[in-house]
Amino acid sequence: MSKESRKFKVPDELANLYDFANTLDLRRFTHHGVQHPQSDELSTAAGLAAWLAERKLGSGEKITPAMFDAALQLRSSVRDYLQCDPDERERSKAVGRSLNRMTQHFPLAVEVGDSGMTLRPARDDALAGLSVVVAELYDAGANGTLDRLKMCASDECHRAFYDRSKPGTRRWCVSALCGNREKTRTYRERHHGA
Ligand SMILES: [Zn+2]
Repeated sequence: MSKESRKFKVPDELANLYDFANTLDLRRFTHHGVQHPQSDELSTAAGLAAWLAERKLGSGEKITPAMFDAALQLRSSVRDYLQCDPDERERSKAVGRSLNRMTQHFPLAVEVGDSGMTLRPARDDALAGLSVVVAELYDAGANGTLDRLKMCASDECHRAFYDRSKPGTRRWCVSALCGNREKTRTYRERHHGA
């Protein structure tokens, strides 16, 4: 859970997944004359450690280069998956295969507790925290809420957002910004050609 996930009312159950996908900020639009700076919270292993610690997912164990690599590949697969339209996700075999391969580094175990059964990280090293993110992915996939976690359709944005609209058909993270920008561009392109 983060300031951002609270601001956009992302359900707690998948807030870490939402934040993880958005550690890469590719937004490059201009708002009020100012270009949004692109950034990557996971540009270094130390950045990953800080991100995990902020969410109490850190283990204090060392993040090896192989672990850091696995984390970045997981993020890339998750972002590719979210980029697919929810209706297309099961049909996008390459995207599914990539996610299958990447999640292998994050094994989970079933834990029976007071509040029923939960998936817990099966490893206890520095990557255990990301297994929690993979568990959120699984749970959201199983209960259907993952269909509402999408990637903004604006080419200048590509931010993951949680669609709280009733029909669940939103395409832009913030309709008033990204949606309007896209509509203005389409309008301009159409009339430019005419
Ligand atoms: Zn957007």
